[in-house]
Amino acid sequence: MKTLGILGGGQLGRLLARAARDLGWRTAALDPVPDSPALQVVDEPMVGAVDDPEAAKRLARVSDVVTLEWELIPAPVLEEVAALRPLYPKPSVLAVIQDRLTQKRFLEAGGFPQAPFAEASSVKDLPHYPVVVKRRRHGYDGKGQARLAGPPDPEAAAALFAAPCVREDLVPFDKEVSVILTRGRDGRTTVFPVAENLHRGGVLHATRAPAEIPPETAAAAVELALKAARALDMVGTMAVEMFLLPDGRLLVNEIAPRVHNSGHYTLEACATSQFEQHARAVCGQPLGPVDAEGPAVMVNLMGELWEKGEPDWSLLEDVPGLTLHLYGKSAARPGRKMGHYTVVGADAVEEWLRADERLAALRRA
Ligand code: AMP
Repeated sequence: MKTLGILGGGQLGRLLARAARDLGWRTAALDPVPDSPALQVVDEPMVGAVDDPEAAKRLARVSDVVTLEWELIPAPVLEEVAALRPLYPKPSVLAVIQDRLTQKRFLEAGGFPQAPFAEASSVKDLPHYPVVVKRRRHGYDGKGQARLAGPPDPEAAAALFAAPCVREDLVPFDKEVSVILTRGRDGRTTVFPVAENLHRGGVLHATRAPAEIPPETAAAAVELALKAARALDMVGTMAVEMFLLPDGRLLVNEIAPRVHNSGHYTLEACATSQFEQHARAVCGQPLGPVDAEGPAVMVNLMGELWEKGEPDWSLLEDVPGLTLHLYGKSAARPGRKMGHYTVVGADAVEEWLRADERLAALRRA
């Protein structure tokens, strides 16, 4: 039996490991936290930092193929892993993505539409407001970024510019959409239905698929994502997040070279999930069909819901087409993704509108 090694032990790794096991692979995962979501379910849990080359090489040695669930693992560590075992996506993909400025320049060189941007290392580099400032590295889920309506006070500016940043124009978007696709080692690619995303505080709140956008806009979004995957020589599942402007134009926001939160709906809604498809791609198995059986809605369950204790899940029992996923995280902290639920079928669109009502009911009074 062959082993798929996963760098990172979060919920993405957990769902990926389960899919890989269903395909007949053993699984191993590396994470610093012994009871992290993925380490609970893999055949070979390994405790260690994913940015420690020695720990990453230990994972590689017990694996036949290595992949990752977190794109911020330093490129030099990935190079060392790739020298030992096939690693997908390749370190070259991550090297482009990890630094927002490099990513934006890559997209610019490829002619992809995006918000005007520039390098920014101090307030002097902010010529106008409003503006969005993002750390070049290690920012995700809205962390390490700020939306500025006017010049920040010196203290806030010092905190923001403690590390190199990029600035970009604030985009007055109508909607946010993401395209999730999977590219095999042979370049064959499948694309999931385009998803529409709602963020709260920079963090994904809910996704619906298919996105409520004109078919030609969906086709244009898919085209951009396919072009990005080819340009990167991506292998595996990847997400391209985009802004849809009121005039119908799409701007690329960012690329995640991994399975993505906005693709969780594929677990229930598609013939092959984003996780299974990723495992198939990196393990060199034929990709599966990705047709959706109908509309789907996914809602994230954040740590805030646990404020007054474990939510009362029985409230979800009678919702037709609803599946609850919990990630096995021991401590619920605000801002932490603890689980999600997906609703497929006739009620999905209504559930998109009812998400807040459901969450309010789940939060114990
Ligand atoms: P990011 O980490 O770049 O995906 O940003 C997280 C979220 O912040 C996005 O999904 C948007 O909701 C919002 N956001 C990021 N950049 C911009 C921008 N330039 N204009 C408007 N909203 C933005």
